[in-house]
Amino acid sequence: MIIDRRKFLKISSLSLINFIVHNTNVWAEKDRYIKFHDVTKCIGCKRCMSACKRWNKLKLDRNEDLTDRETDLTGNTWVVVNLIRDQRNVENLFYIHWACQHCEKPACMGACPVSAIKQYLTGAVVIDENKCIGCRYCYQSCPYKIPRFDFEKRVSRKCTLCYDRIPRLKPACVEACPVSALDFGLRNEILSKVKPLLEKKDYYLLGEIEAGGTNFLTLLPSPPQNFGLVVAPPKTVNESFDKLRISSYGILTGLSFFIVFYLYSKVFKHDQN
Ligand code: SF4
Ligand code: SF4
Ligand code: SF4
Repeated sequence: MIIDRRKFLKISSLSLINFIVHNTNVWAEKDRYIKFHDVTKCIGCKRCMSACKRWNKLKLDRNEDLTDRETDLTGNTWVVVNLIRDQRNVENLFYIHWACQHCEKPACMGACPVSAIKQYLTGAVVIDENKCIGCRYCYQSCPYKIPRFDFEKRVSRKCTLCYDRIPRLKPACVEACPVSALDFGLRNEILSKVKPLLEKKDYYLLGEIEAGGTNFLTLLPSPPQNFGLVVAPPKTVNESFDKLRISSYGILTGLSFFIVFYLYSKVFKHDQN
């Protein structure tokens, strides 16, 4: 089948645009949403945990209860509320709501060999359970070890930032919080509420720089190290690898287009003669 030069150029441009859209993490700053947890307000009632289970139809875990015993994430528990203690003053106890941080440059997404993890324009990082092959590379690459294996479904699972509710509705956990320790909104709106607090007190905003910045921010009364919390480096190693991978793909694709176009022009010219 012979196609003319104009048609060829049209197809080439559309393919190139499609490639760029699907291989870069560029999205408008104004579209990014943040889930925010203020540790100083949280009363540890765990209603957020129950709301998450209800909305996502998650099974109850065997040892799940409403005590202050430390709980861990599982394939059916996508958020936990645990007590943290200020190691400089052990009397200072707080509750932390802990789930996927929805990194702006998700290491889990870069590591998934079957592209089962997608980042939505809102900032939500979501595992497609129909594509997941259960290799657990996402768990290995995540600086916070968030995705957990569901032994029944044989897939990795984690908080979805309620991508199926936002932005029309707030995430289920945020709506359930009785003391507004959780909040949700556009990045700039949330930051404008939080920044004055950071200026007034010696507070720390976890997620502002960690793992290259995250779309779940936690306000702590002091740096996370004081509570023995895991702190991801400002940039992940995978991010650099991803950039390299994406740039190589870009160069190779550009080169392929050039070669095909060059050969086509030669043939086209030859036919005209
Ligand atoms: S916290 Fe882990 S699982 Fe969540 S987006 Fe970041 S890398 Fe992925
Ligand atoms: S944002 Fe949605 S999925 Fe994530 S912890 Fe809250 S309720 Fe669960
Ligand atoms: S519902 Fe609100 S106050 Fe209760 S544990 Fe969750 S974040 Fe804390």
